Amino acid sequence: MSVKVRFAPSPTGRLHVGNVRTALLNWLFARNSGGTFMLRMDDTDLQRSTAEFADGIRVDLNWLGLRWDEEKRQSDRTDRYAAAAEALKAQGRLYACYETEDELDRKRKRQRARGMPPIYDRAALKITPDEHATLAAEGRRPHWRFRLDNSENGSLTPLPTIVSWNDLIRGDQTVDVGSLSDPVVIRADGSFLYTFTSVIDDAEFGITHIIRGEDHVTNTGVQLQLFEALGAVPPAFGHHSLLVGADGAALSKRLGALSIESLREDGIEPMAVSSYTALIGTSDAIEAVADIDDLAARFAFSKISTAPARFDPEELKSLNARLLHATPYDDVAAHLADLGVGGDAAFWLAVRGNISVLADAAIWWRVVADRIDPVIEDRELTDIAAGLLPAEPWCDTTWDDWIAKVKAASGRKGRGLFHPLRMALTGRNDGPELKALLPLIGRARAEARLRGQQA
Ligand code: GLU
Repeated sequence: MSVKVRFAPSPTGRLHVGNVRTALLNWLFARNSGGTFMLRMDDTDLQRSTAEFADGIRVDLNWLGLRWDEEKRQSDRTDRYAAAAEALKAQGRLYACYETEDELDRKRKRQRARGMPPIYDRAALKITPDEHATLAAEGRRPHWRFRLDNSENGSLTPLPTIVSWNDLIRGDQTVDVGSLSDPVVIRADGSFLYTFTSVIDDAEFGITHIIRGEDHVTNTGVQLQLFEALGAVPPAFGHHSLLVGADGAALSKRLGALSIESLREDGIEPMAVSSYTALIGTSDAIEAVADIDDLAARFAFSKISTAPARFDPEELKSLNARLLHATPYDDVAAHLADLGVGGDAAFWLAVRGNISVLADAAIWWRVVADRIDPVIEDRELTDIAAGLLPAEPWCDTTWDDWIAKVKAASGRKGRGLFHPLRMALTGRNDGPELKALLPLIGRARAEARLRGQQA
C-alpha cells in the first residue's frame, strides 16, 4: 500500500509556522516513504475562504519547496457530500434539527445549572413525521446532525462509548464519544461542515495517513465513527503537539506575526523555516539543514515528541544565520544579484560568516564596491599604513607582509593596530576579516580611505 497524505488548510488566512509544521510533517513522511502529498483546500466556509488566501498558501508552500502531487478543493465536491449525506439520512444517521442558536444556548445553560455536561439532548429525534411536515410547511429549514453510535437499542441516552486507535505519534488513544454532542454536519443553509467533508474526502481520495495537530484528537473519535457509518476503511492517524512560545505559553494568539509571508519579508531563508519547524519537538538536534531531502531522510514518527514544541523566533534567526554561513556561493548567486549585490565567490566567502540575513550582504557590498566615509581614529597609524600598502597584484601573503611592516613602523599592536585600520577601511566597528576584505576593496580605494578620504 503506498502512502498518501494530505495537507488541508482552510484558505481563511495565510500560513503560519504552526500549520507549516503540519504541512512539513506530512510532506516529509510522504517523501520519506515514496508516497504522494495532496493539497486540499478546506474552503467550505464560503464567507471566510478567499481565492487570494488560497493563492497565498500555494505561494508559501512553493517558497518552502513543498510541492504537491495533487490539489483538490472542497467547494468543488458538494455533489459528493450531498450523496454521502443522503446515504446517511437513509440509515437514520443524519437527523434534522430546528433549534436556533439561542435555544441551544439556553439548553446548555440549563444543563450547566443542573451540573450536567452541555451535550445536545437529541430532542430533534423526538419530532414526529407530522411535526416535520408542519415545520417544512412553515418554511423552517433544518440543520443536520450525525448521530453518534453511543447508546443502546435506540435509546437516546448516551452511554460511555470508547473509540480507540493506535496513534502514530501518541500511541494508544481513546475518545469517549458518549460525552460528546452529535455534531452538526450540514448547516441550515445547506452548507457542509469540515468534520463531515473531511471524512468523505479522506475516504474517496484514498488517504492512508492523517497527520495533524492534537487539537483534532476529539474530532478523530467522531470521524472514526463517520468512516464506519460510510463503510470506509479509516486511515491511520498521527496527532502532533502544538507549538508554544519560548516562554512555554500557547502560541495560537501570536501566530499571525509568525506568518510565512512575514518571515520571508524578514529575510528568513525557506530552509531555515523548514529545518526549524521540522526539528523542534523531535528527538533530533535542531540544526540548519540545507537540503529538504536530507530532512525527509531523517523523518520518523518515533522521533516526534508528544510534549509541546517550543518555537523561539530568536532561535530561528540564529539558525538562519548558521544556514547562510555554510551556504555555497552558487546557491545564493541569483539571490545576491536580485538584491543588487555584485561580487563573486570570493566576496561571498569573505562576508557570509558575518550576516544574519542575505540582505546584510548589501552592507558589505557597499563597503567593498561603493564610497564610504572612513573613520580615522589614529591618523599617524593610518598614514603609515597607507604609505606601506604594497603595489598590486596582491597575493595570499600580501596581508601578513603589510601588517608586519605597519606593526614595526607604528609600534601599534592588537586592538590598537587592527581597530583603527578597520574603522578607516570599512567605516564600521566590526565585520568580516580584514584580510579577506582588503583585496576586495583594492589598493586605490584602500589608500584613499586610510588617508581619510571618502572613497
Ligand atoms: N482544515 C482543517 C484544519 O485546518 C484540517 C484538519 C485536518 O487535517 O483534518 O484544521
